[in-house]
Amino acid sequence: TKHFPVRAGLRTLLTRDRPAVHAVDDVHLTLRRGQVTALVGESGSGKSTVARLLAQLYPRTAGSVRLHGQLVTVRGGRPFRAYARKVQMIFQDPFASLNPVHTVRYHLTRALRIHGNAGRTGADLDAALAQLLERVALTPAERYLDKFPHELSGGQRQRVAIARALGADPEVLLADEPVSMLDVSIRLGVLNLLRDLKERLSLAILYITHDIASARYFADETLVMYAGRMVEGGDSETVTQQPAHPYTRLLIDSAPDPDRITGEAGPDERERGDGEPPSLIRPPAGCRFHPRCPAAMPRCATDLPPRLDVGDRPGHWAACWLYDPEAAPPATAVGADR
Ligand code: SF4
Ligand code: MG
Repeated sequence: TKHFPVRAGLRTLLTRDRPAVHAVDDVHLTLRRGQVTALVGESGSGKSTVARLLAQLYPRTAGSVRLHGQLVTVRGGRPFRAYARKVQMIFQDPFASLNPVHTVRYHLTRALRIHGNAGRTGADLDAALAQLLERVALTPAERYLDKFPHELSGGQRQRVAIARALGADPEVLLADEPVSMLDVSIRLGVLNLLRDLKERLSLAILYITHDIASARYFADETLVMYAGRMVEGGDSETVTQQPAHPYTRLLIDSAPDPDRITGEAGPDERERGDGEPPSLIRPPAGCRFHPRCPAAMPRCATDLPPRLDVGDRPGHWAACWLYDPEAAPPATAVGADR
């Protein structure tokens, strides 16, 4: 089971702002060691909520999270503490996640100590700090250890935030738009670093992004979210090259250049001529995408589509009635019409 550190089924209603928001519904995912899973969607799709639920920053209203097959309690208890150590989060804005009055040394030492990974002697601690910085390619360590966050570039700050997460000796990294606030020129470097770490440390990485081109480049598996639900999943090559769900096609078609990782523009920032994502207060009945879908059929407005197998690639699925094997015309004919 070492390839299956986290398996989750999630549902949550956020009621902090009234009325209740159906932020995430019927979300199932498995994060495997040595694999990057991309969770792609527009802002407001619920993808960050999934990361926060997995990081236990939000309470889930229903569902379960398992680490190595063991159920994780919501707060407290040994399973929760083990999980809190093994599952680390990396945020979008490294400036906000690092304390401006503390040095790199402080942040990393604290992470090592909290998780019991600090050396017992000063020399052991220095070696552990140097190893963390080496892992994120900030060398030599002495050049960075006594710097404050404002003395570092955005990319260096995000590397420090990653090093801090590694201080817990995690199995899973939850990375919420980890490069979208960085200069375009250094995004690839940080994604490549995360990919190297995945290999070297056999990490499971959940990569949250609105940039489907970067998912294709960086992720082994891609999951697409729309309005709080997952609508398509499969290996990244298949999902991005042969998208099955009409929403995934819209995402790809509205990306500025699907072959380039810009992390910019995309549907989040561009004007949409084809409608907005729906409110999650009262989501549309049936398929939540039906008000925007060019392929919508009458049943789409009333019946929620289940996950259906697509085409011939194993593990490729879409929650879309176009792939209903019991419906005519055959889904493959419709799906091929792109
Ligand atoms: Fe479009 Fe219907 Fe498929 Fe939803 S189920 S994506 S509305 S065709
Ligand atoms: Mg977000």
